[in-house]
Parts: sequence; C-alpha cells; structure tokens
Amino acid sequence: METILVLTHVDDSGATLTKASLEAVTAGLELSRQISTPLTIGILGLNAESAVSSLADTGARLLAVSGEAFAQARYASDAAACEALCRTAQASIVLAPASARFMRIAAGVSHRLGGCIDTHITSLSGTSTIEATRWFYRQRIEAVIRRDARPWFVMLDAGTHAAYAGVPAPAQIELVAVKLPALRTIVEGYRVPLLDAQTIRPDAHLLFVAGAGWTKKQPDGQVHVAEASRQILSFLRLSGASLGSSKSLADQKAEGGEDQPVLSFLTHLNQIGQTGSTPRHAKGLSTCCHGEEPHAVGWRFIAERRAISLDANCGWTRGKADVVYIADAFQVMTRVSALLESRAAGS
Ligand SMILES: Cc1cc2nc3c(=O)[nH]c(=O)nc-3n(C[C@H](O)[C@H](O)[C@H](O)COP(=O)(O)OP(=O)(O)OC[C@H]3O[C@@H](n4cnc5c(N)ncnc54)[C@H](O)[C@@H]3O)c2cc1C
Repeated sequence: METILVLTHVDDSGATLTKASLEAVTAGLELSRQISTPLTIGILGLNAESAVSSLADTGARLLAVSGEAFAQARYASDAAACEALCRTAQASIVLAPASARFMRIAAGVSHRLGGCIDTHITSLSGTSTIEATRWFYRQRIEAVIRRDARPWFVMLDAGTHAAYAGVPAPAQIELVAVKLPALRTIVEGYRVPLLDAQTIRPDAHLLFVAGAGWTKKQPDGQVHVAEASRQILSFLRLSGASLGSSKSLADQKAEGGEDQPVLSFLTHLNQIGQTGSTPRHAKGLSTCCHGEEPHAVGWRFIAERRAISLDANCGWTRGKADVVYIADAFQVMTRVSALLESRAAGS
C-alpha cells in the first residue's frame, strides 16, 4: 500500500503555510481519496506548530520540524529536516510544492532515500497505478508518467491546484527531531529587489503583457518610450501584476545597439509564448500587442484574458481574448493607474 506525504513549509512570517504548500495539500487530499490511502502532512519552518491549525480538518497525520535552525532556507538544515519527515512518515509518494526552498533540496533528499523525482507536475490521478502529468515542448505535449521506484518525489507546479482552505481548529502534531549536520552556511537575511525592479511575480493575480506597440510611433508621429516605461512600472507598482513581454519587445532590448529606445527593465525572462514562458495567472491584460505567440501560446494558462489594442482587425486578440478594448493603451493605462492611485489613497 502507498503512503503519501505532503511536504509543506511556512512563509516569511514563520507561522503560516505558503500558498503553494496549501495547493500541495489539496493535491495530496485528492490523491489520498482516489487511492484510498491515509495522508501525512509534514511542515517545516520556524514556528511550524503554529501552522498546524489550518490543517486540522484535513484528517491527516501531522508532522513538523520546527525551530530556529529552520527559520531560513538552507540546504543542509532543510534537506536533513525533509529527510527526517520522509523517514518518519515512511512515505512512498512525496508531494511537494515546486518552491525555491524545496526545489533546491528535493533531488538531494530523494537521492538520500534511494528514490526518484519528477518536476513540473501539474496533476495526479490513478486508482491502482498513480499517474502524474506534465507538459513538454513549450506546453504542447502532455505526458503521463508512471513509476515503480519508491519513494517517488513529485514536485507540483504552482497554480495547478486550489489552495486548501480549511476551518482553523486545534490539532495534534508530532514534532520530529532532526540530527543536524555541521552547518557551514549562516543565513543573515534576504535582500529583496525593490518592487519596481522585480517584475516577474509568479504568484500575482494578473499577468500584464507589454507588446512592441509601446515603443512604436504613436498618432503624433513620435515614439514615447520614456512615457511607456513610466506607465508600465507605475501600473505594476499599483497593481502588483507580473510583467510579460512579447518577443518583439524583448528583442528590442537585446538588439539595443542600434540606438533604439528600449524599456530598460525588460529581459527575455519576461518573454511569453512559444520561445518564452507560459505562466499561470487568474487574469491577463495584453497591451500594444498583436502577435500570435503571446495570445495563442503564452496565454494558454491564463483564465480570463483582456487586450487593449489599436488594431480592430487583429485576429489574435479577437480570437483569443475574452474582452478586447479597441483603444490607445497610453490613454487607458493612464486612467487605470489614476484610479488605482486614488483607491490606494482612499484605503
Ligand atoms: C520561431 C519564432 C518564435 C517566436 N516566438 C515568440 C514568442 O515566444 N513570443 C512572442 O511574443 N513572439 C514570438 N515570435 C514573434 C511573433 O510571431 C510576433 O512577431 C510577435 O509576438 C509580435 O510582437 P508584438 O505583438 O508585440 O508586436 P507588433 O506585431 O509590432 O504589434 C504591435 C501592436 O501594438 C499596437 N499598438 C501600437 N500602439 C498602440 C497603442 N498606443 N495602444 C494600443 N495598441 C497599440 C499595434 O496596433 C500593433 O497591433 C516568434 C517568432 C518566430 C519566427
């Protein structure tokens, strides 16, 4: 019989589970129901016990590794903690969110336990045999993976499951002791980029896609790149949206040697589409963007899509967006940011 363990960790507060961890809990509950196996959840973090009440009504066995040594992500302590959780649970299937904290250690922990690991898993199913699904070739081919090796570590992509939201209640927790190796790394803290500097935000509700139109000649015959920059950064700051870019716009940055004015904060990491990424967000807003790639491929996993374009005949926006505003994005975004500004001032 399989034994399922969901590995979770707390967020920066030290006492609340991350959203991606709660998504993994949902995946674990669904799988344990499907294969009729009890579930164990392991929590890692400074105050792991404090997070347990949010999992009370899962009915799962709850394990925790808690304490100062686990306040910050560090390979040696996190790997030792997760190894101890897996051994205590005697897990044959280990589900974990593909967070930076767990992606760093999961392969190492799997190796220590003689297991195997798969990443970018988007769904799990099965009754007698467990099947994990992931996408290949820029989200065009969906593969179903089965494995005999155990323990099988399954890293779940964020945004693929609903975050578990149970009624908080007192719950029993088993604290797992960890024999720490010599710790050579001292974590002094995080240096986080300013909100304006960090434009890729996988957890954002909204993906804001900028197209090359932002740097094209506008009806007055001039380009307005400085204004475009100011507007895009202002909207990102006010809305907390993640920034995606069409390839044409990102390429302008790479080819900037031709004295072309560019948006300095864009890199190819922002690029979405066939040769870019296909992020998962609840909503998407594309602006000044005509291309097939962003609309047909890059937006594949965006639930609700809107576009602002001057081109009323653009087949891609018309075909792929739920709502299209035929309008000047400079004007629309000025107004939207002003509304967001006044809402922020009022709250
Ligand atoms: C092998 C290959 C791979 C590719 N991969 C990708 C990929 O991964 N991702 C990707 O994005 N592209 C990719 N492309 C390129 C893609 O085919 C398009 O050329 C590109 O996406 C077009 O970018 P764009 O819509 O930003 O620019 P444009 O086609 O130049 O469109 C700009 C739009 O902005 C509008 N506009 C201008 N001013 C305003 C304004 N004030 N308000 C509102 N609208 C305005 C214009 O009307 C126009 O519709 C790839 C191409 C190839 C050949």
